[in-house]
Amino acid sequence: MTRTIRLAIFAAVLTASAVAQPIAPRLVGDGLTLLPVAYPGQIKTVADNAVVFADGFRLDAGTIDPAASIDQVIRHASIRDMFRLGYPAGAPLTPPPLNFDPGRFRNKAFFDHLYGDCRKGEVERNLEAVVWLPQSSGRRVMVTRVNGVAAQLRAVSAEIEMLPPPLRRAAFPSAGTYVCRSVADSGQPSMHAYGAAIDLNLAVSDYWMWRGGAWRNRMPREIVDIFERHGFIWGGRWFHYDTMHFEYRPELLPVQAPPPP
Ligand SMILES: [Zn+2]
Repeated sequence: MTRTIRLAIFAAVLTASAVAQPIAPRLVGDGLTLLPVAYPGQIKTVADNAVVFADGFRLDAGTIDPAASIDQVIRHASIRDMFRLGYPAGAPLTPPPLNFDPGRFRNKAFFDHLYGDCRKGEVERNLEAVVWLPQSSGRRVMVTRVNGVAAQLRAVSAEIEMLPPPLRRAAFPSAGTYVCRSVADSGQPSMHAYGAAIDLNLAVSDYWMWRGGAWRNRMPREIVDIFERHGFIWGGRWFHYDTMHFEYRPELLPVQAPPPP
């Protein structure tokens, strides 16, 4: 899909979301079919409403309940729920519509099987050190090597190093990557618990729970673009915004750079 078509679809999605029910399903097509493309080494196919992993494990994709509240979906998202909201990659950085949180619906069983359960030590064994911005910062951060996350983050780092210093400044020091904890408001594991997320410079970050209201962003567009090209979504595109946060969710970014070798 070209960038222009993609932008047109996402513009329609954004327009629709401003007038429709806050979290009604509105993604065009069947997002499930994107899973084997997004996780080629781990997900073999999707059949009979089940996601089939390369090791033969099957997970029911569940259903979308249009009557569920946003809190219910955040706490008990099915795999289908993960595709309720189209992630507006490449769109302008503007305040999201009410409850528009594309990517905050995560099915726990799905990610537990992809990356492991950190409480059982299953995530740690796949962590790999990435030197974050070797010329600007040089601190090591730990992320999972599963699904090429570490390789993609290294590619992101190399591209950010090429930005002018005033833009690059928002990216370091990293405020954290892997930590075995839940999201504060939902009790569900965050992508940090899977070693598949990074927080950037705390000094220029804005978070809905701290500010308690109006969206604000100080993260440069150039940094968001680089992450999105490498399979990471940005927390600044959420109504419940978290502008220093990026997480690896290639199933929500159907057009992206191929994984580095
Ligand atoms: Zn974060």
